[in-house]
Amino acid sequence: MKKITVIGTGYVGLVSGTCFAESGNQVICCDNDERKINNLLQGGVPIYEPGLKELIEKNVKKGTLCFTSNIKQAIREAEVIYIAVGTPMSPSGEADLSFVEQVAKTIGENVNSYKVIVTKSTVPVGTGRLIESIIKQHLREDYPFDIVSNPEFLREGAAIKETLNMERAVIGTESDMAYQIISELHQPFTSTILRVSLETAEIIKYAANAFLATKISFINDIANICERVGADVTKVSEGIGLDSRIGNKFLQAGIGFGGSCFPKDTAALVHISQKCGYDFKLIKAVMETNEGQRVKIVEKLKDALGTLNGKTISVLGLAFKPDTNDIRSSPALDIIPYLSVNGATVRAFDPIAVEETKKQLGYQCLYFKDIYETLENADACLILTDWLQVKHLDLNKVKELMRQPLIVDGRNIFDLETMQEFGFTYLSIGRQPIN
Ligand code: NAD
Repeated sequence: MKKITVIGTGYVGLVSGTCFAESGNQVICCDNDERKINNLLQGGVPIYEPGLKELIEKNVKKGTLCFTSNIKQAIREAEVIYIAVGTPMSPSGEADLSFVEQVAKTIGENVNSYKVIVTKSTVPVGTGRLIESIIKQHLREDYPFDIVSNPEFLREGAAIKETLNMERAVIGTESDMAYQIISELHQPFTSTILRVSLETAEIIKYAANAFLATKISFINDIANICERVGADVTKVSEGIGLDSRIGNKFLQAGIGFGGSCFPKDTAALVHISQKCGYDFKLIKAVMETNEGQRVKIVEKLKDALGTLNGKTISVLGLAFKPDTNDIRSSPALDIIPYLSVNGATVRAFDPIAVEETKKQLGYQCLYFKDIYETLENADACLILTDWLQVKHLDLNKVKELMRQPLIVDGRNIFDLETMQEFGFTYLSIGRQPIN
């Protein structure tokens, strides 16, 4: 049993803190957002993640998990301190480290015994060393501490399941004692633990995300060729995915990647490369292809309608992927304002991300939690997120509700034969149009 403090109670901090409590540790999750902490203290959960609410309730009841905005006190009580604050994209594309630096300073000022300080936030190479030097500068006495990089690989929407059964843990540190402590913490979750240097751990995280992003842009480029030559990208994915050297994951063509990680981490990797004098051309092309996919889907819609002006468009899906209410860098945030500025009335559906979207887009569209209500009198339906509710649509009912049966599908949810049978005009990605 270790006393762990997690600083930053967002997706990563809250999920990992809760899982560390579940595996028998004493965990304090802290944040400087008092509203978030008060909400948690009152039994609320600020994010949607399957299984999270139940696990929080269970561990709070057991007394193994608690929440506070008193970060200084939480630091003093801990043996292990996890840094899980945000590292957003700055206007230049670089990772903004101001939250991490602020936390490192507070840690330095409050260290009162040996501590292991672990970075879970995604940070550029060299940040572990930077944290170490900031802490040293602010130490009140000469207390020993060790620095570890332990990057997070969770997937939103499956974060609890994947943390409790993680495929691997990467632990970057020079200290044998710190390695021992952090690897013991991970033993209940995985038997695959990779020990590397601080710098290697930091780059592993970016390399992992950049590789996955590359797979997505690769298949989207193939999709764009398929459209021109009369091939079907879903069959191409199947055909190459059956090769175990390639694998079938992250090979679904569509409107490209969004979310809080891939766009920001690919941009940060371009900067990391530039800083060390390397021109990472491949990842720049991955980003360019990705941006193009959002434009292409809107062009298909415009071409099919003739004009957006005066049309009613139902947008299905606001979250950047299913099973999350996270809308960071979600395609919907670019596409809805574009449709609206060009004179369309947008009726938008999402089962759980409506409130988050309202905060960003306000009343640029009408919001619905009922998928069929969203489709009433629509000139077109634009699918942006492959929610189960979308996959399970009653297509007869959809056809009755819409003014005209036009579906533009950014997620390739339906098969072409079905859409033909139901009599839809159906435009998807990397497949032939059904008219
Ligand atoms: P988030 O924005 O959901 O949470 C960050 C939290 O840190 C917020 O609650 C914020 O209030 C808090 N915070 C900021 N400054 C603070 C300070 N000085 N003291 C205390 N708390 C502070 O972010 P997230 O999605 O959890 O991501 C955190 C990090 O993990 C990022 O670096 C991200 O790239 C990385 N990561 C995220 C995911 C993911 O799927 N979300 C996966 C892997 C890695």
